[in-house]
Amino acid sequence: MTNDTTVATDGSTGEQRDLIDEGVPWETDQDPWPDDYQAAATFTFDLDAGELWRAAGSVDPEFARISYRGEYGPKVGVPRILDVFDRHDAQCTFFVPGKVAADWPAVVQRIHAAGHEIAHHGYTHDSPRNMPPEREEREFKQALDLFDDLLGETPTGYRTPGGTTDQTMELVLAAGMTYDASSQATDVPYLRDSGDLVEIPNCYLLDDFVYWGYNMSPAFEFQAGIAPVQQVFEAWRAEFEGLYDRRRLFVPTMHPQVVGRASRVDMLDRLLERVLATDDTWVGTCADVASHWHESVV
Ligand SMILES: [Zn+2]
Repeated sequence: MTNDTTVATDGSTGEQRDLIDEGVPWETDQDPWPDDYQAAATFTFDLDAGELWRAAGSVDPEFARISYRGEYGPKVGVPRILDVFDRHDAQCTFFVPGKVAADWPAVVQRIHAAGHEIAHHGYTHDSPRNMPPEREEREFKQALDLFDDLLGETPTGYRTPGGTTDQTMELVLAAGMTYDASSQATDVPYLRDSGDLVEIPNCYLLDDFVYWGYNMSPAFEFQAGIAPVQQVFEAWRAEFEGLYDRRRLFVPTMHPQVVGRASRVDMLDRLLERVLATDDTWVGTCADVASHWHESVV
């Protein structure tokens, strides 16, 4: 027995459909994952680079002054992360603001060439909630065009850099995307209201910025200090094991400039090893998960 919010259904298509329309998490006798996998994991990275700091400058202009710190992500973090996933022969998803892809095209092409997914994370890292609708739409399309030019394809998924507006999901759908990864509503994929878009939820418990997001001055509002690596490993391992038992989806959200530090990327290596050691956890990109959910579960 768990404390999960679960709703039993008789498995009938109509009732299940109603529950899905209301955003109730998946709960049927149907296997949620392909090929008899017990659970699934999708490792996500937000390659925000200096855009994160520049956007934080709208809160306190001093943050914008240190945007150079973001360079650690594409310069050092990304190659280390690619090494880890290459060693384990696994794929992951990078959410990239268009502006970052414009500044670091070779890095983004290298991630793509290694078989990982490049997904939409706005153009600037500014929150769509703080822009007029015209600017949100313009930046959204600007990023699509940029990825089309750079990679020869447009992303199939979106994660907002900070909140959504009434038109955000309309833009995602109009671009022909299959999923959004911005919500924290549950811990298993579900269909959003329209029925055409899979939601792949994340959570702060599995966000590296919560544990390691730090600046000497000015401090982040939520800043608690720099957590020991082993403490984060234990918290994430325990969450993975709990989700594994419940057949749910494990979605760590990381930032190459944060998790790319030597001791942390070693922790990521051990975590991925732990997940794969189960032998029946499906590790794929967000696009893989969304595609499976579209085709099989609903
Ligand atoms: Zn971001």
